[in-house]
Parts: sequence; structure tokens; C-alpha cells
Amino acid sequence: MKRAYNFGAGPSALPTEVLEIAQKELLDYKGSGISIMEASHRSRLYDDVHQNAIGLVRKLYKLPDDFDVLFLQGGASLQFAMVPMNLYKGGKAEYANTGAWSKKAIKEAEIQGLNFDVVASSAESGFDHIPEVSFSDDCDFCHITSNNTIYGTQYQEYPKTASPLAIDASSDIFSREVDWERVGLMYAGAQKNAGPSGLTIVLIRKNLIDRVQESVPTMLRYKTHADANSLFNTPPTFGIYLLNLILQWIDAKGGIAKVDEENRKKAKLLYDAIDNSNGFYTGHARPDSRSLMNVSFNIREKDAALEAKLLEEAAKANMIGLKGHRSIGGLRASIYNAVPFEAVEALVDLMNDFAKRNA
Ligand SMILES: *Cc1c(COP(=O)(O)O)cnc(C)c1O
Repeated sequence: MKRAYNFGAGPSALPTEVLEIAQKELLDYKGSGISIMEASHRSRLYDDVHQNAIGLVRKLYKLPDDFDVLFLQGGASLQFAMVPMNLYKGGKAEYANTGAWSKKAIKEAEIQGLNFDVVASSAESGFDHIPEVSFSDDCDFCHITSNNTIYGTQYQEYPKTASPLAIDASSDIFSREVDWERVGLMYAGAQKNAGPSGLTIVLIRKNLIDRVQESVPTMLRYKTHADANSLFNTPPTFGIYLLNLILQWIDAKGGIAKVDEENRKKAKLLYDAIDNSNGFYTGHARPDSRSLMNVSFNIREKDAALEAKLLEEAAKANMIGLKGHRSIGGLRASIYNAVPFEAVEALVDLMNDFAKRNA
């Protein structure tokens, strides 16, 4: 068996060690004679996993007590709608537009007829940076996309505002420590940096849970899930089981700060290769906005033939998922927590060699 170096943007690499544990436990979870997938979500067997995962999110993220941890479904895309449904009180909202996912979030505010403004945008320069964002202090909520998976830009720090700040952290959750003072609600589809698809993680300040309007359906209220500890209905149990294993894996490494340190080393290696290529490789993001998770780049001024050739050579060398998003083309290396340093080294070796041969 050979595991590929997986640079895919999502669903994406999971730690091999975690998959091995899941494999070992698949048929007989802890001597129960059944898979955890076959266990009732009301059973003791599953409940331990559920509570453990919540506890590890709290511990690893140093989450303040006045936050709730929710395990939902519907992906980050449902959160684009649930955030306004639950947080908007008839005042105003503000959004920053830093790419395709921000636009989708904004679209849901439009559909719900919110009174809102887009107060910052980097659309005019092809979403190549995180703009200066200054939110009002009297909004029902404000919204940002922490890491722009497609364009490879990332907030270096979150904007300060007295308004509740909702953050789409789908592609950088658990990758670095968070200043919770600045956060009202953080959400993420798990499938990029935290587990398999089908699980959505929401971390929400408790004082934001009760303001939901009466017209909001039961399943779309944070309150429903908070009151039931995310067991109102059947949660995605296998996804939560894998999340728990991934959090244990992060814990064993020494925590999120440690993972962040490794991520910075991986990103530096890759960005240095781009910067030192004499213009053979061109990064999409401005250096001050570069993402530690997704590195989007081109060969020269979008040389599609050479880009295709590099993809082909990468595939032969067991590296997959490097094609850029269809909306911007080029190449993209996603280097999430689970992508090992050796994978990035292998990619950089290939890139350096490829540049020499094709310069
Ligand atoms: C992938 C992604 C989404 C969409 O997530 P789904 O779980 O598929 O709905 C939203 N926001 C960001 C930043 C993403 O990277």
C-alpha cells in the first residue's frame, strides 16, 4: 500500500495515524463487538466519544466557558444562512468580501432581506489580499471568511469590533490559536482541516443563542442544538468519532500552537520556493495576506501548458490535488494540519527541479 501526498483542498488529507486507528477499531470498537457507526447515538459507547470530542475542542482551543460547542450538519454553506437567521435582530449587519465563499455568505443575507453593508472587499484586485476591515460597533453581527481556500489569503488577525463577529473558519479551524475576545461565533465544515465531510462545527458565544426569531425552524436554531448538547436528533456520529481522534492526534503533538509552528514551517518552505524561482512561479496572494493553509500559484503569467505538465509530473510522483480551483486556474497546494512536512519537501523538490528544466 502506498499513501499519496494529498494536497487536495477538501475533502482533504487526514492523518495516516488517525485512519489506522479507525481501521483497527472499525469492526469492534473497544470490545463492544460493533462498529462505532453501528452504535446508538444515545448509547454510553457513543456518548463517551461525543463528550470527549467536545472536551478536546474546549481544551485545545482554550475556549472560554461562555462558548458552546455544537456539532451540526449541512456544511459551512448552511451556516451562511443560519448565522443571519439566528443573529439578526432587525438592525444592521456588515460583511467583508474576500472571495467566493464570502460572496456566498453575502448572498444568503440578501435572500433573507437583511439590512446589511459590504464594508470591505478585495474583489477589484482579484481577491489577492485581505483588505483593511473596519466594522461598526453597533451591528447585530459582522461576518468574515478567516481563510480564503480558493485564493490562498488569510486574516493574519481578526478585526476588532464590539459587534458579534461571525467567522467562517472552514479551511483553517484548529490550525492556529484564536483570540476569543474577538469572536462571537466561529463555524467550519469539518472536511478541510478537522475530519470527514458531513460534520459542521459551530463555536458560539452563549449570549448569542437566545436571540433567535420565532419563525426560524427548530432544526435551524442554534438554541435547539445547544439545549440538547448537539443530540437533539442523530448527529453525524462517525464524523464526530474521527474528529475526536484528530483532536487526540493534535493533543499528542503538543496542541494547536505546536501544529501552528509546523504549519508555518511547511508554508515557508513552499513560499520560499515560489519567491526564489526568479519569477518562474508567481504566487496569487500578496505576501502580507498569504495563507498558511492554501498556497495558490501560477507558472509565470499563467502558462497553462507548463502548469498542466507540472500536474502530470506531480501525479507520477504520487502527489495529487494540486490543480487550482476552476475559478482561478493555476495550481494550489493545500497544506492542512494533516499534510506532513515530507509531502511539502517532496513538492518543493519537484518544483525546483521542474523550474530548472523548463526555465
Ligand atoms: C469549503 C468551504 C466552504 C463550503 O463548505 P461546505 O461544508 O461544503 O458547505 C465554505 N467556506 C469556506 C471558507 C470553505 O473553504
